[in-house]
Amino acid sequence: LENVEGGAEVERLPRPPVVTVMGHVDHGKTSLLDYIRRAKVAAGEAGGITQHIGAYHVETPRGVVTFLDTPGHEAFTAMRARGAKATDIVILVVAADDGVMPQTIEAIHHAKAAGVPIVVAVNKIDKQGANPERIRQELVAQEVVPEDWGGDAMFVEVSAKTGQGIDNLLEGVLLQAEVLELTAPVESPAKGVIVEARLDKGRGPVATLLVQSGTLKKGDVVLAGTAFGRVRAMIDENGKAIDEAGPSIPVEILGLSDVPAAGEDAMVLIDEKKAREIALFRQGKFRDVRLAKQQAAKLENMFAQMAEGEVQNLSIIIKADVQGSYEALSQSLQKLSTDEVRVNILHSGVGGISESDINLAIASKAIVIGFNTRSDAAARKLAESEGVDIRYYSIIYDAVDEVKAAMSGMLSPEKKEQITGTVEIRQVISVSKVGNIAGCMVTDGVVKRGSMVRLIRHNVVVHTGELESLKRFKDDVKEVKQGYECGLMLKNFNDIQEGDQLEAFEIVEVARTL
Ligand code: GDP
Repeated sequence: LENVEGGAEVERLPRPPVVTVMGHVDHGKTSLLDYIRRAKVAAGEAGGITQHIGAYHVETPRGVVTFLDTPGHEAFTAMRARGAKATDIVILVVAADDGVMPQTIEAIHHAKAAGVPIVVAVNKIDKQGANPERIRQELVAQEVVPEDWGGDAMFVEVSAKTGQGIDNLLEGVLLQAEVLELTAPVESPAKGVIVEARLDKGRGPVATLLVQSGTLKKGDVVLAGTAFGRVRAMIDENGKAIDEAGPSIPVEILGLSDVPAAGEDAMVLIDEKKAREIALFRQGKFRDVRLAKQQAAKLENMFAQMAEGEVQNLSIIIKADVQGSYEALSQSLQKLSTDEVRVNILHSGVGGISESDINLAIASKAIVIGFNTRSDAAARKLAESEGVDIRYYSIIYDAVDEVKAAMSGMLSPEKKEQITGTVEIRQVISVSKVGNIAGCMVTDGVVKRGSMVRLIRHNVVVHTGELESLKRFKDDVKEVKQGYECGLMLKNFNDIQEGDQLEAFEIVEVARTL
């Protein structure tokens, strides 16, 4: 059960999985998406022409599957960097006649960093040189292990050209979805994410909204980023006007005041005035909020990472000039891991630092290391505006030393006791209804009002507690320094004797180093 606005509880029901297709260029991502769309979406619509609305859903005998129609890990991670989690399952397309390539590996890293399970589509199985066995072996080397080899990745052989195996692939996706037990409330105001949006000359702002929970209805007031408006029309991927869309269903909506960005979250508000107010506030304040956020993040310590139980993760992305250098660097950095701080190499590869590296860093709160490589202009700009830390090195030891220093900063400070002063008890006066007042001399350092104290008698600690009062003559004072007399009482302890020593101390936090 899910609490929705107004405190009502709404039942969560199973929802279809949302899939992103990833893989190396030319391995068949677009062909696969096109084939499935052609074969499944328009089926039953006599002469129906599918629209490109950025996402579509297909109905199979086993259930519904929704595809995001922008393939590749760049789009996937760009959405994540904006805080959107739109994908439940990744289909990794690998051409059976080509094998695991750099972008295949990148896609795996991006999916893993997001914690999204992978279903492998071994594509182009119709081709002469197809060698699915080799694909399996090469993927095992990337820690994507087939189920029949004891791993948890489903492998399905397909052809995006002939359609062979496509039904198995959809079935595989639905099996994987069952494991995930995806659910969402249905009978509640819709929430979702903007998949894409554009300005249409005739129709104004047009946005594709993937509903993630609840049900979106024509006439609802939607707030999406800095845009808002009443849904004037809803259109599905067949170009058909519809009145409702439930969880995991994408729809194109008309009626927004503005063009929201992909990855922006969208929600239905009951009150149009409120939606307008929030949208306007976001428009006016957006920059400031972002700047403030960045500064806070920087202040927090540039390396501060999310705590994961007791263990902190330092996530790192490495781009290097050659394979040998990123391998050596990842190994040395991973060796720095301790029980308290774990070094987590999210992605490493050869080449310059790209926008998708930065988006991965934003999405996973990672730092980026360029080893004998630099970032391109777009990546640099994005990193600057989002406060992503990029560091450049050309010597492995320098990188290791700096990361080590950063990890020390992530250790929780050690609490240490520091003695601030010592006091000799020279006289004890008993005052009725008040208790024992000690006349003392501060022999070293300083004693402060309310300080923690330890009472020592013949070199044995007889009491640890707090000062009740601290006076000079008749007046309460904040502190008394070495060489001055004072009067004091202890909190909840009356057995103070002439000749006792009092130690005043405080607890300080001391930064630790590895
Ligand atoms: P993308 O870059 O991953 O989106 O790859 P495309 O979908 O553009 O496909 C690249 C090329 O491979 C195109 O010429 C496709 O026609 C071809 N192709 C894709 N899938 C298959 C397949 O299963 N069999 C064959 N024979 N060719 C394919």
